[in-house]
Amino acid sequence: MWSIMGFLSLGLNQDIVNTAKRLGYDQPTPVQLAAIPAIINQQDVMARAQTGTGKTAAFALPLVHNLCAQPLGVAAGSKPELRTLVLTPTRELAQQVFNSFKKYAKGSSLKTAIAYGGVSIKPQIESLNHGADILVATPGRLIDLMFKGSVEFSHLQSIVFDEADRMLDMGFITDIKRILKRVPSNRQTLLFSATFDDEIFKLSKTLLTDPLLIEVDTKNTAAVDVEQVVYNVDEDRKRELVSYLIGSKNWHQVLIFTRTKQGADHLAKEMCKDGLKTQSIHGDKSQGAREKALQEFKDGKIRALVATDVAARGLDIETLKYVINYELPFIAEDYIHRIGRTGRAGSSGLAISLLSVEENYLLEEVEAVLGERLSQQWFEGFEPDLTKPASNARKNSRSAQKRRHKDRAYGKDTGNRRRKS
Ligand code: AMP
Repeated sequence: MWSIMGFLSLGLNQDIVNTAKRLGYDQPTPVQLAAIPAIINQQDVMARAQTGTGKTAAFALPLVHNLCAQPLGVAAGSKPELRTLVLTPTRELAQQVFNSFKKYAKGSSLKTAIAYGGVSIKPQIESLNHGADILVATPGRLIDLMFKGSVEFSHLQSIVFDEADRMLDMGFITDIKRILKRVPSNRQTLLFSATFDDEIFKLSKTLLTDPLLIEVDTKNTAAVDVEQVVYNVDEDRKRELVSYLIGSKNWHQVLIFTRTKQGADHLAKEMCKDGLKTQSIHGDKSQGAREKALQEFKDGKIRALVATDVAARGLDIETLKYVINYELPFIAEDYIHRIGRTGRAGSSGLAISLLSVEENYLLEEVEAVLGERLSQQWFEGFEPDLTKPASNARKNSRSAQKRRHKDRAYGKDTGNRRRKS
């Protein structure tokens, strides 16, 4: 149960409060309660909040409020100047944040623009030429636009780093530094991150001035309304079990995570052969193909969507109930992001992890991040074959196995992220 304090008492203007109400936001979430008044007061904020906590509205609502309070640059037909910049690690998150700003600024004269890689830069340049108060961008594309002289930061008042931990994971630090050189130093800076670690604190020191520190929970805990189940299963029977679960339980809209792009494609193909309409999304697919797959998934035209961690970051599917970890992630924190796709803003969800014996060490890491043990069980008919010789798990040392896994994953899914952002 969230606070009894309404949005109005946080200092937001009546139009924005009405918008929030219309969207069904009855009460502010904890991160909104803490962040909104500070952002309205022009304070820097460093917030740890995972997806599903209402973090986007926590920065977007007060930023829209602030922009409306000072309608600079729209006087007498002049075009709006860029005053708010939001940086996101992925195109999907950029799209989601852009959509949120559009919703929250509806009815105002504010203009929002979006820029990300993987699509033609021309329409983005044209849209910026018309002027925008708010720009949501991925770092790589923003730098391209900077070099083309299509963005101008002299009026910039606020900059948001959304999912900053992911930006660092994806190697955007150099891009961030290049962007920071161009933005006014007296700006307001807001940093949102699902996790806080030494790297984030190091980055925060270079970005923020006397920030308000917000931590909506004390650990990197998973969304409370997500039931977590772990099934022990042999690697070569995982696909069969996924199809069986979805078919026998008549689940619709199931988001499945694999570690690699090839794995995602292969699984989607095999599931289609099992009679389940499935598509995959990952960094090698064009933006158009990703958006189409996502839309069909949202519309219920396909039953399952197989995604890599990078592609799924930022996906916001309001009614999503089922997440399946076909493979556990190499970065334990990604587990929290994955299962945070369901159980959004208070609704309940089910997250199933399929655990082969080779992945036991990954589960241990996930448990360390969660601060709790997850109970493991067998699914009738898919019990692991204990007579099989334990393969790689025993042949390789834990650290060698992990290193090789990680290298492979990054080589396949993150090596060219900079260009694709
Ligand atoms: P986020 O954490 O930003 O990814 O938001 C998760 C979901 O919560 C989105 O679908 C938002 O529309 C929704 N949301 C944000 N704030 C509230 C609120 N105060 N009450 C209900 N839903 C909310």
